[in-house]
Amino acid sequence: SGRWAKVISILKELQEKCETPTGKLCQVADAMTVEMHAGLASEGGSHLKMIISYVDNLPTGDEKGLFYALDLGGTNFRVLRVQLGGKEKHVINQEFEEVSIPPHLMVGTSEALFDFIAAALAKFVATEGEDDNLSPGKQRELGFTFSFPVSQSSIASGTLIKWTKGFSIEDVVGQDVVGELSKSLERVGLDMRVAALVNDTIGTLAGGRYNHPDVIAAVILGTGTNAAYVERAHAIPKWHGLLPKSGEMVINMEWGNFRSSHLPITEYDQTLDVESLNPGEQIFEKMISGMYLGEIVRRVMCRMAEEAALFGDTVPPKLKIPFVLRTPHMSAMHHDSSSDLKVVGSKLNDILEISNTSLKTRKVIVELCDIVATRGARLAAAGILGILKKLGRETVRERENQKSVIALDGGLFEHYSKFRDSLESTLNELLGEVSEKIVIEHSNDGSGIGAALLAASHSHYL
Ligand code: ADP
Ligand code: MG
Repeated sequence: SGRWAKVISILKELQEKCETPTGKLCQVADAMTVEMHAGLASEGGSHLKMIISYVDNLPTGDEKGLFYALDLGGTNFRVLRVQLGGKEKHVINQEFEEVSIPPHLMVGTSEALFDFIAAALAKFVATEGEDDNLSPGKQRELGFTFSFPVSQSSIASGTLIKWTKGFSIEDVVGQDVVGELSKSLERVGLDMRVAALVNDTIGTLAGGRYNHPDVIAAVILGTGTNAAYVERAHAIPKWHGLLPKSGEMVINMEWGNFRSSHLPITEYDQTLDVESLNPGEQIFEKMISGMYLGEIVRRVMCRMAEEAALFGDTVPPKLKIPFVLRTPHMSAMHHDSSSDLKVVGSKLNDILEISNTSLKTRKVIVELCDIVATRGARLAAAGILGILKKLGRETVRERENQKSVIALDGGLFEHYSKFRDSLESTLNELLGEVSEKIVIEHSNDGSGIGAALLAASHSHYL
């Protein structure tokens, strides 16, 4: 029928607009490399902020003592306690608790958000056991993983540049987030010092390096997306401080804000952006990360419902609600391997109140998920190639057996296996024979441990 032909034409059009052939991905990677250079050259020189992290030494394995970490990422926050045993023993003991952030606190006041976090941390500290011995007279120390763009002024201070990922608390923008947290710690009566303020990418890089000496970069694919890597200090023209002894500096790219005319942007991406809390910003993130993939799929489904009556004569009201279709739902539908696609059927029913869908409709939905996830994964792979190119590690050099390990973390990478598989195979496709020297490693919860490790190496009691 005419309706069905229209459905297929919307699908085909999406497929064409989302195409990411190898050549296009190489252009994206090259654009990433160019922007990296520009962001390192001068402040504000690029959409990539290329933030200097003040981390010039990554963990060695010698770190010792009891340390805390607080990981505020987007959807949840985690509090961690780690007992580090030094060279031989490494992590002796670790405990964590996860707390979800009530949505009203994401758009409320600074005080309300940080007091909530501090209270949860205080509660967690109160559960310290007999093995968690802190030397008498010592103040507890904390590594604070804060996964939003921060302009660092030292290892333990930095001001919030802007919120992303659905947060919007105006009174924190421009403020020192360590100062805000410290005030709340004081209000709840918790005697603890923030020894390191890091981004989740930096934490993941630190945690990855602790386990593997060849880790050179970290990529987060969770609610949002970002990357960090180890740069040679003399390759950072905008750095006017003393050259660090190590000769290295970790850079937080804030790659979520990358954009390029080579990105395959569709009308759905454009309207999603315009209607978002941060229009015009985080364009790369909006095509790749967990907060947005499901929403892109929803927008295409909406068009199919409106223009091709995919779900009958009226558009299902639930389908019109922004962000109702979450990426975990999308992932569940995409992985449905039953012959009648019953998972797709039940998700459509449970989330969108669309009942009695035909098999061919369900197949269209799976195809939609595949197009959107594949594009995201392939673009993320192109971003990684951009970093490797910046470091000159994308070609084979004779007599060099150096491996490059990239630590990956985040719920999207961890749980969306078709996304992960596509990312890995795309990287192999882009690297050819060099792919033998590049290793992707899942750094499970590296960002929290990494922050605790950095707190240890920046402890007052060394
Ligand atoms: P954050 O990025 O907020 O620090 P996580 O790294 O845990 O937190 O990532 C959470 C995000 O991962 C969710 O917002 C969601 O988009 C994505 N995610 C979680 N579970 C799944 C899943 N099963 N399939 C696909 N994506 C998932
Ligand atoms: Mg996180």
